[in-house]
Amino acid sequence: MTEVFKKNIQLIDLNAQLNFIRPNINAAINKVIEHGHYILGPEVVELETKLAKFCGVKKCITCANGTDAISLLLMAKGIGPGDAVFVPSFTFAATAEVVAGRCATPVFVDSSYDTFNMDPESLNRAIKKAKEIGLTPKVVIPVDLFGLPADYDEIQSIVEKNKLILFCDSAQGFGAEYKGRKVGTIGHATTTSFFPAKPLGCYGDGGAIFTNDDELSEIIESLRVHGKGTDKYDNVRIGLNSRLDTIQAAILIEKLAIFENEIDERERIAKNYTNMLSSMFKVPDVPLGYRSVWAQYTLKVENSHREGLIQFLKSRSIPASIYYPRPLHKQTAYQGFPIATENLPISEKLAKEVISLPMHPYLRQEEQNEIIKALHDWNYSK
Ligand SMILES: *Cc1c(COP(=O)(O)O)cnc(C)c1O
Repeated sequence: MTEVFKKNIQLIDLNAQLNFIRPNINAAINKVIEHGHYILGPEVVELETKLAKFCGVKKCITCANGTDAISLLLMAKGIGPGDAVFVPSFTFAATAEVVAGRCATPVFVDSSYDTFNMDPESLNRAIKKAKEIGLTPKVVIPVDLFGLPADYDEIQSIVEKNKLILFCDSAQGFGAEYKGRKVGTIGHATTTSFFPAKPLGCYGDGGAIFTNDDELSEIIESLRVHGKGTDKYDNVRIGLNSRLDTIQAAILIEKLAIFENEIDERERIAKNYTNMLSSMFKVPDVPLGYRSVWAQYTLKVENSHREGLIQFLKSRSIPASIYYPRPLHKQTAYQGFPIATENLPISEKLAKEVISLPMHPYLRQEEQNEIIKALHDWNYSK
């Protein structure tokens, strides 16, 4: 071959990461295959200890995926029919799905235009709305969307005033910080996902719950193994089969070892995007005291221009993606559930305007330059 192989720019480049740590990953997987403790083996315990230490929380309980992680919390608190659980509409479906799955009612809350995250003002209205229609307000689940922590001080005070429970869906935000605290230490409990494309991902499905509440953590440990009591053939509650595979835990231990450096790289890359693009695009806002883990780097462009921009980038082999094209309260499966106000104008506007650029810790400088140049060229040509 005479042609030099040039790899296309990836939205998230897991292969570049693998190339960096391949021997360690191979050794870690082999070790599990050899010792044979495939379910809840020693690597699971080691990972849970390391993850809890990483964010500075007492307990970490891993489970099968980030969706189950939220589900397990709702099960532990006995959330069910007649209960209102407040979730953003502008998020991935799992946040609301688990609520409906428990036969409770998701009540959709609008988001803030600048941060993409749950708007406390809209949360207040949603609580009022839930009471008006005869539901019992129980839980608030803010999402750390695109890696940026939600507005926790404001939300926490609303939660306390209304005697609710705060569960944080940090599937996209593990590693992020809020006013000096790592995600995982906020609220009654926090969940995350190790889906491959998340900031800390494994090579399959995986999830975890973080809490300082010993009693809650014991219930979760029981629930994830069919509601076990003294052993798995003693069933004291109805649970799930929801465990993180030992092989995935072993992989995550290797990835956690480089995670802090990766967060620094993500931050450096995000800052460069912002410096180079802020004069012509609406770039993502990081409020003072917040540290995003940059699960996505998301611009907002006028709806009438968005498809054109995607096609322009595509013509230069640059992928871009829309998270999320439709807010949940407009989705077939969820349109019957209550919403905070007559409509959720910001969620609807965001769904029309967002566009996420390639973002991962291994994005090379020349690749990022290409992306930035394409965006500048498009801006002048439009
Ligand atoms: C990915 C994601 C989940 C679900 O995680 P899985 O591990 O895929 O089940 C939940 N909430 C949000 C906001 C997510 O992005």
